[in-house]
Amino acid sequence: MTYEYWIDQHQLKHKKIIEKLHFLSDNEIIEYFDFNNMVKNEIDFCPLYKENKKCHDVEKLNCYLCACPLFRLSAIKSSCAINSRFGGEFKTDDGFVHQDCTNCHIPHKISYVRKNFSKDWGEIMKFVKLV
Ligand code: SF4
Repeated sequence: MTYEYWIDQHQLKHKKIIEKLHFLSDNEIIEYFDFNNMVKNEIDFCPLYKENKKCHDVEKLNCYLCACPLFRLSAIKSSCAINSRFGGEFKTDDGFVHQDCTNCHIPHKISYVRKNFSKDWGEIMKFVKLV
């Protein structure tokens, strides 16, 4: 699965949930994307939900962003726009250098979600795909 395909598919999933929650306030929508609530009510949103497993060891993990608006994707590598000290990188056999966000919790914290909130997930992620 390519990064681009994942981004496009995730945007569709996210949009479907936002449309369903049209009667909620922004804060209520953010709370709805709390990991524990999503596991109960949106099992298909993330493959880890079936195992009740978190992608990052964050106590109050928020799944609203899932990806990171600071992630940058080019033809030869992925990287972090702020060179987060929690980030890293690894290389695959095809020579592509991947940004490793395993140890970075920045986009999974509710405070960060609130600061970058938009009901349009694609708008939040608009700088990810470098043209
Ligand atoms: S999750 Fe962290 S390391 Fe990854 S792109 Fe975002 S800020 Fe950078």
